[in-house]
Amino acid sequence: MIALPVALLATVALAMVVTDQGPASVLRHLYLVPILWAALARGAIGGGLVGSLAGLMHAPVVLPAVERDGLTSQTLDGLLSLGLPIVGGLLVGRLVDGSRARAARLAAVLAIQRRLDGPEALDDKLMGIARELRTALRARRLALLVGGDVRTALLASVPVGTLVDPDSAAAFALATGQRVSAEDLAADPRVRPDEPVGPTPVRALAVPLVSGAGVVGVMAIEWTGELSRATRAAAEELALHMGLAVENARLTLRQHHFAEELAEKVSTATARLRELDQAKTEFLSVVSHELRTPLTALQGFSELLLRSALPPDRAQRCLVYLHTEACTLGRIVGEMLDLSRIEAGRPLELKPEPIDLVELIERNLELFAAEHREHRFRWTASGPDVALRADPDALDRMVKNLLSNAVKYSPRGGQVCVSAGVAADQPGMIELAVEDDGVGIPADQLPRIFDKYVRVPHPETAAARGLGLGLSLVKALAEAHGGRVEVDSLPGKGSRFRLLLPGANRDF
Ligand code: ADP
Repeated sequence: MIALPVALLATVALAMVVTDQGPASVLRHLYLVPILWAALARGAIGGGLVGSLAGLMHAPVVLPAVERDGLTSQTLDGLLSLGLPIVGGLLVGRLVDGSRARAARLAAVLAIQRRLDGPEALDDKLMGIARELRTALRARRLALLVGGDVRTALLASVPVGTLVDPDSAAAFALATGQRVSAEDLAADPRVRPDEPVGPTPVRALAVPLVSGAGVVGVMAIEWTGELSRATRAAAEELALHMGLAVENARLTLRQHHFAEELAEKVSTATARLRELDQAKTEFLSVVSHELRTPLTALQGFSELLLRSALPPDRAQRCLVYLHTEACTLGRIVGEMLDLSRIEAGRPLELKPEPIDLVELIERNLELFAAEHREHRFRWTASGPDVALRADPDALDRMVKNLLSNAVKYSPRGGQVCVSAGVAADQPGMIELAVEDDGVGIPADQLPRIFDKYVRVPHPETAAARGLGLGLSLVKALAEAHGGRVEVDSLPGKGSRFRLLLPGANRDF
């Protein structure tokens, strides 16, 4: 490529000789053409070479004239004609070299960006980038470490197989965030080369990759022989871009994870909504059944009382049935009203007062024992310090719900143990536990049973009446008192519900 400008230069020189107009010939300006051509094609070397040739062509005429006449305006003009092509060729060549290097750096930056945006795994992306960088920087070896710790960071090296150990310049740069530059790797006491280095000195540069989050990795490069300032500057500039690009890639990855998480949450929520919808449909069918049963009884017994003159003992029995079914209806309606009030965000109206917990439990146990002969009820109180302030009606409903579940879900009869006392593991709390040895609840259903309308199917309790509202009400009431309800259960063994309420000396 340099041959053509040289040939053109020779042609111009020949033309000047042929026209015989001496150094002042206007043809001398044509020298600029091959000089610019060479500079554009070959940079500083080409421009300097052809410029020097063009300048030197003037030397046989200009130098003797200077020696003979000294510095006159003519000889000065001649000296200018000698020097200008050399300086011009070099200058233009350097500018061309500079812009080429800048273009190459820009291309490398774009390549980095494109790679990082690509669909490959991060290891493959880094490998591709390491290859691009090594070519752009004309390095002997190049390694990219991405991560905060040299032992766990991702490593991409070209050629493949370079190991980065804790004594290396890369590890030092990663740990300290400082740039390491070694003029001769073999002689540098700070680093230990990982392979025997030849007679030509190997220059090494380890530049930390820095982003807003701090040091995110290191770029380690080795060159054999001379290392120009421009290459060093290019390496540092590329490391800067690399740091930002890695950070960008990390942010994109995080965003990606976030979007995935969001999608998962949305699909879980949708599934949950579908479940709730299903539960609500089931609830409606159950509720109509649950309401119809006591209503039918109420209608039947009241008609019987109206139409027939029953003997007093039968009439009395009818009245007991009527009363029981009316209570059931009242309880169902009360639970539904309370839950709809909670659902609407209105607080439950609680009237806390000191409670005689022992009396409340014993009264309920007596009631349940009278109704459920096939169950045995055991009761233990842990002493006189069970001082509790609560809404008596709400507490009564919680206890009744837990007791009625204990009975309902142990259909073959069995033992129901109730205990109350200061919660040993919860300072300031009073616990009331109801334990049965019934069908129990599978572990995967436990988190759901306090949700509304949730009923756990079990062949033995299929006939048990219920709306799936009782426990959600117990939970809401306990929470409204500043307490909570917990459950332990083993299928086939039984369940233990623990109601925790703040003691009388604690406010709620
Ligand atoms: P309901 O009893 O009206 O169905 P609950 O909200 O009181 O509604 O209970 C929800 C579900 O939790 C019940 O349907 C039942 O499957 C389960 N469950 C509640 N208590 C017990 C218990 N002591 N033993 C076994 N399962 C229970």
